[in-house]
Amino acid sequence: MKRRKHVPRGYYDAINYSVSWGDILRIVGITTSLKANPNPVRYLKLKCCFHKERTPSMYLYEGGTFKCYSCNVIGDVFGFVMRLKGFDYWKTVDFFKKHFKITPDNFQKFIEDRIKEVREQVVVKKDDGLDTLPF
Ligand SMILES: [Zn+2]
Repeated sequence: MKRRKHVPRGYYDAINYSVSWGDILRIVGITTSLKANPNPVRYLKLKCCFHKERTPSMYLYEGGTFKCYSCNVIGDVFGFVMRLKGFDYWKTVDFFKKHFKITPDNFQKFIEDRIKEVREQVVVKKDDGLDTLPF
């Protein structure tokens, strides 16, 4: 793929909001047991992928960020894949192109799709009453 000097910031937002942690874990082959918290802060909790531990202290948050509260590694979906796979920057870009078809050239479309999706969810939620709004 064409190498660019500068990747627009929206590219990372597109990945963080369009790619689910579940898909990432499946692709990289992490099958450790997960605890999911649906409310009010949505996250998955698992054993840290970057240090050895017996009890889970890594949190994967909705919205594409993660943090291990034991070894303090922190980042987003892009950084997670890069670090876990030992990829360099462009190899990570290729990973998201291969598995999710998101590239620094087409990311805008993914952001637009996500905005549309959120708007539709809000419309649905309004029918259920205000107390079911996510935020
Ligand atoms: Zn850790």
